[in-house]
Amino acid sequence: MLATMMNVPLLLSSILRHAETCHGDGEIVSATVEGGLHRYTYGALASRSRKLANALSRLGLKSGDRVGTLAWNGYRHLELYFGVGGSGLVCHTINPRLFREQIAYIIEHAGDSVLCFDLTFLPLVEGLAAELKNLKAVVVMTDEAHMPKSEALPGLLCYETLVAGEPDTFDWPVLDENTASGLCYTSGTTGEPKGVLYSHRSSVLHAMAIALPDVFDLSAATVVCPIVPMFHVNAWGLPFSVPMVGAKLVLPGPHLDGASLHALFESEGVTFTAGVPTVWLGLLDWMDAHGRKFSALKRVAIGGSAAPPAMFKRFHVQGVDVLHAWGMTETSPVGLAATLKSKHQALPPDRQLELLCKQGRPVFGMEFRIVDHEGREVPHDGKSFGAMLVRGPWVAQGYFNAPRHSAHADFPGWFNTDDVVTMDADGFVKIVDRTKDMVKSGGEWISSIELENIAMAHPAIKEAAIVARADERWGERPVLVAVLKPDATLTREDMRAHYESRTSKWCVPDDLVIVDELPHTATGKLSKKTIRRLIEPGS
Ligand code: AMP
Repeated sequence: MLATMMNVPLLLSSILRHAETCHGDGEIVSATVEGGLHRYTYGALASRSRKLANALSRLGLKSGDRVGTLAWNGYRHLELYFGVGGSGLVCHTINPRLFREQIAYIIEHAGDSVLCFDLTFLPLVEGLAAELKNLKAVVVMTDEAHMPKSEALPGLLCYETLVAGEPDTFDWPVLDENTASGLCYTSGTTGEPKGVLYSHRSSVLHAMAIALPDVFDLSAATVVCPIVPMFHVNAWGLPFSVPMVGAKLVLPGPHLDGASLHALFESEGVTFTAGVPTVWLGLLDWMDAHGRKFSALKRVAIGGSAAPPAMFKRFHVQGVDVLHAWGMTETSPVGLAATLKSKHQALPPDRQLELLCKQGRPVFGMEFRIVDHEGREVPHDGKSFGAMLVRGPWVAQGYFNAPRHSAHADFPGWFNTDDVVTMDADGFVKIVDRTKDMVKSGGEWISSIELENIAMAHPAIKEAAIVARADERWGERPVLVAVLKPDATLTREDMRAHYESRTSKWCVPDDLVIVDELPHTATGKLSKKTIRRLIEPGS
């Protein structure tokens, strides 16, 4: 028997309509590429998104067409999120930190009809001119005063001019909620990048789930600054979730250094922010060096890579809580978030920290299975580990235009994350490692994350990576590759002493390699592939 409830589709346009109607004067503040802060409201966002939708339709775009973006976190990018997706087109966010060849591949593979980009990326887009010949339009996200003259790209359109000429009325189509609304390619550390095609339904459900108290805890009283880029996994869904709850939204633009972030957080009264560990290292180092404090910041969400316990402690000293969360491009991304249950409130602080440093408990909507090599479920005892499989309404079923790359090849109906994890009886998941990053020594697995966390607790170490080095006797042995803090020194013996009191003897890294800088991927994770090559040319 069917229920008698309304079947109203979950659409991105409904978020915008709600924000305009109920939080019309809610503020959106953006640090701009052109310089200075731009301020407007959810009312203005809705109006300009409608104008943009009219402009896109005038360019001849039809339902399902892809609009590429190469842009920072800013108000025009936000208008593209809603104006493109809301009108039945697909907003394809492109990571500008990828190699030129990968970007060219992605634009071609996605079949983008229009490309919109921030001024910063003019040289990058000029380098792609040959690949953009068949696009209907290439749009610079700026005003006439800042329009560049480009010989390589003679027909560039100006975003502000495009939008200015359009009427403020646009009837958002009532789409099937499973219609595609967004596209994001995985960073492609193995093989070609693969496109994850989000739907209105998956994005709206995910946005509702991440606002929950045990996840990002968003409300109309929060001031949110997503540092995680809008060009990667929809900035963890915050551009949808924040207007949904009517919180003030602060967008950092291209300015992600410690001084700029601190100034923005202070001037706008940011209470919640989110990003990868690398960004926080930069901010915390800057704050320490300049003796600064936060006056409004209450909570920071960290994900994308493991947040080391030392980072939790540095934020705690600042009076800021840390929320550790886990996700993937294929999972929209949020699947796990680490918050305590009421029964944990009385635990001693070090036991609480142990739980909070795990990647977290499943967010409702996401189901998890942890299986051994034979596909059998491992006990949820916090010790037994296995591959983590997930399923849920915001998990990818397959990839865009890639029938051969099913996301579910080995476990029908489930997505294999390639993360090796433990789960305890309360549902807390701890990532032991990426499958390919674990070190197999004498038949035993060593977690690179665990050894990196120990390294990060050493006062001389600024950043650390553990990689495997081939070893005749043991198969593989761990090597610590570290960046030291300014003027600090560290010998192999110091390192050994530090590890010996904190882990089993056979897990102590065999070697220490000190480098000036560690390579990161386009999404800010340690690039283990490049680091392995660094210590062992030819591997
Ligand atoms: P991506 O799809 O590029 O965002 O990468 C997803 C992968 O990042 C996951 O499969 C994990 O290996 C890793 N990851 C994400 N969040 C965390 C976290 N909190 N701790 C450890 N690894 C993480």
